[in-house]
Order: sequence, then structure tokens, then C-alpha cells
Amino acid sequence: MPPQTRARQRLLIKGGKVVNDDLSVVADVYVEEGVVQQVGPGLNPEPSPGLVVLDATNKLVIPGGIDTHTHMEFPFMGSRSKDDFYTGTKAAIAGGTTMIIDFAIPQKGCSLTEAFDTWKSWADPKVCCDYSLHVAVTWWSNKVKQEMESLVQNKGVNSFKMFMAYKDIYMVNDEELYEAFSCCKELGAVAQVHAENGELIAQGAKKMLAMGITGPEGHELCRPEEVEAEATQRAITIANAVNCPLYVVHVMSKSSAKVISDARREGKVVYGEPIAASLGTDGTNYWNKDWAHAAAYVMGPPLRPDPSTPGFLMNLLANGDLSVTGTDNCTFDICQKALGKDDFTKIPNGVNGVEDRMSVIWEKGVHSGKMDENRFVAVTSTNAAKIFNLYPKKGRIAVGSDADIVIWDPKATRTISAKTHHQANNFNIFEGMVCHGVPVVTVSRGKVVYEGGVFNVTAGEGKYVSRPPFPPYVYKRVRQREQVCQPVPVKRAPYTGTVSGTPVTQK
Ligand SMILES: [Zn+2]
Repeated sequence: MPPQTRARQRLLIKGGKVVNDDLSVVADVYVEEGVVQQVGPGLNPEPSPGLVVLDATNKLVIPGGIDTHTHMEFPFMGSRSKDDFYTGTKAAIAGGTTMIIDFAIPQKGCSLTEAFDTWKSWADPKVCCDYSLHVAVTWWSNKVKQEMESLVQNKGVNSFKMFMAYKDIYMVNDEELYEAFSCCKELGAVAQVHAENGELIAQGAKKMLAMGITGPEGHELCRPEEVEAEATQRAITIANAVNCPLYVVHVMSKSSAKVISDARREGKVVYGEPIAASLGTDGTNYWNKDWAHAAAYVMGPPLRPDPSTPGFLMNLLANGDLSVTGTDNCTFDICQKALGKDDFTKIPNGVNGVEDRMSVIWEKGVHSGKMDENRFVAVTSTNAAKIFNLYPKKGRIAVGSDADIVIWDPKATRTISAKTHHQANNFNIFEGMVCHGVPVVTVSRGKVVYEGGVFNVTAGEGKYVSRPPFPPYVYKRVRQREQVCQPVPVKRAPYTGTVSGTPVTQK
């Protein structure tokens, strides 16, 4: 469909329960030119020309999901992730997600702007739904600082990710973290961290290999929970020292989640992002006797062998200690994973999830009774839209919002399987999971892009979404603190007594 036709498409979603993060109400939704025009009972727009009517009776009408964390066609660890921006966004749509935020990641010493342009040139001709880009800071210099400023001002970037792991590749040290966080704060950006102690991982990996542990279990053993928790605590401490809001990507462990939860209780501006994988499966799979099965779960930070982890993370997501959900979708097939068949450190890190996230969270979160439909919307789209300054254009169904909408059947079930999924991978880490909560229709900017298993997408149809700096949801508090919470010197009379010291004489 040419863009003009798409823009003119008119859509009426009738009789569903419209669910936002703060309210559910039975109402019709009328869409024109990709934007919600009316929400209310008994809407009756002119039937012609070309009004598409969708019946949503007994179904939920929710904002399309926002996946805050993907790596499509990512060149990484001697390979390239299989889902590209076409298959990846198509799979997203099939799962009820209408926007992804991917990462542009420069090599050390390389330009951030060039990385951004490169990723955008990969994405633009392929994306089937809207997308945006976080940019990684993998080294530090004045040039990096200038590029961050230019990316914020000219390219619509408001989030930068720093790696505390991947030593010698992407890892930055504490001083660089301090500089990067300070710069984010000045620019009104959200600082993100991959929180794991890269030094300990490097030592741990050597130790495991020396002990003859070469299989995927070594991947978890060389970087246990405390390695993640320590880095999370350190990142929070450094961010707090410069009053910079912090966003911890892929929270994988109970101990790291507890650190975030405690920091929030101390009033720190910090957000935690568990992912579909950490909420839906666990690290016992690394001990599976089948090498290919075990390797398929390898990602960093690893899934945890404590099987109560997913339930614990879901509890924290439900009660507000954790805020948003992504997937870290970065798929490698078994043959790519086999690069590390004799050495777990060479197994490309990454798992699927972009298609599965919404159903996994509905099943484990809502169907289980841990959260309601409104909290589901909050953690799958609204909170992400607020943190990354897309709200209320995204993450809400209201007049003036982008018509990124999903008709969701909470009673229907589907079984997740690599045989039927749309992710470009021959393995699914949720294989066999039966999920309540199925996207029946997905609408992207007012166009029905997926209905009853059938796609109507064109590569390149999605748009890059700019994100302005200083998201109010994050920065109102930060700015106020900046004004009222500065330390002040004690006013006192000058000391006028004798000053004596012992001169140190050189021998
Ligand atoms: Zn990632």
C-alpha cells in the first residue's frame, strides 16, 4: 500500500474494552491518518470511503507494545544476529509489539554518529513498524561528548548505553561511566547500563576453562549473580553522585533486582528492565545434556539457575520495583552458536523474544494473577513511552495518540514454538509454553498490519521516531533536586589561631 493510501485509511474498532495504564473502559476507537481521532461509546463515522471496521467485542484494545531492547542484524562475536530489521519487526507485529528501540553500537575509538547513521541505514528500508535507536558509549573523549550532544540535538536520541562488561570490546571503566553519566545529565538523556563486572567475568572465564568447563554452564558459572548485582550497585552509586537518572537494561537476577528495588526505596531515580527471557525461563537450561539446547540460552548477563528467579522478577514488575520490559532480542541459530562448541566464551550471546514478550508477560503476569490488565499495559508500553519521552503519542490510546493498537484476546491461548514463530531462528527459548493472551489484530499507525495470522506489511513502512531530551517523567525530579538539594558550606568565622606543621625534610 503506498504511503498516501495508508495515511488516508480510516479505521473503527468497535465494542472492545480500551485499556490504558490507568483506566479500562468499553469504548469504540476511531482512527484517521494514523492517529486516534475519537474514543467513546457508539461512535458512528461516515461509512465511506473505505472505512475498515474491526469488531473487538469481548476483547481488549491496548496500546501496541514497545520493546525497549532489541539487536536486529547486530554484528557481534564473529557473527550477525539473524533477525534483521524486516523479520524482527514483522515478528514484533505478530506478537503485538508496534515499536522497537534498537541499539547503535560503535567500536571503541569509532564515531557514535557514524554508528547511528549505519544502524539507521540498515533499519530504514526494512522496518515494518516504528523504531528508535539508543546509542552506546564504548569509550570516552571530548569528541564522544560532542557527538552525544549532537545526537541529542539533531538526531532525536535521548538515551545512551554504557557497558560495564565485554572487557576490551565495549567495556568502560568507572571514570568513563562518571563522565558519560555527567554528560547524559547535562543533555537531558537517560543513562543506561549493561551492569556486570567485566573484570570478574574475564577472570572467571579463564578459571572455568582451566578447570575444563568449556560448555554453556561455564557461561553462568564465570559470571554468577553477584557479578551482576555488584555492577548494578556501582552504576547506581555513580549515577547518584552526578544526579543522573539510570536505567538498568536486562535485569536477570534476584540480587540485581533487589539492588534496584532498594535504591528506589532510597529515592534514587533508577529504572529496571527485566526481559521476556528473564521473566519466562531460567538458567537451568545451561546444564541441559544437549549442547545445542544449552547454548541456545546463552546471553549476557546469563539466565539464572535459581528457578524461582522469573517469578520473583515478575513480582517486582507487578509492584512497581521494576518498570519496563524489553527482550534483548538478538537471535543466533545453532550453527552460529556452534562457534563456541569447544569454548563457551565464543558462543554468540543472544536469545529471541521480540514476538513472545507480550504473551509471556500476560501468561506469567496477568493470567497468574500478579498484575492486572492496566499494569500489563504500563510495563509493556506506557512506562517505556514515558521514560523515553514518547508519551502520550505512544503507550496510550487517546485522542491524538499514534494509532499503534492491538486487539488482544485474553482468553485465547497459543503455544510458542520455533515451528510457528516468525523470528528468524530455528530455536525458541520458550518452546512449548502455552500462553493465554493472544494478539488478534495489530494496527501500526492506523494500518492493519496483522490480522488472524496474516500480515499486510511492507518493508520500510515503519518510521524512525525522534525522542526529545528531558523526558518529564524522569527529569522533573532530577531538575528539582538540582535546585534544592545542593550541599552548601557552613558559614563560620575564620580561624585566627596559630597554624603549625612539621616540615618534612628530605634525607
Ligand atoms: Zn542488549
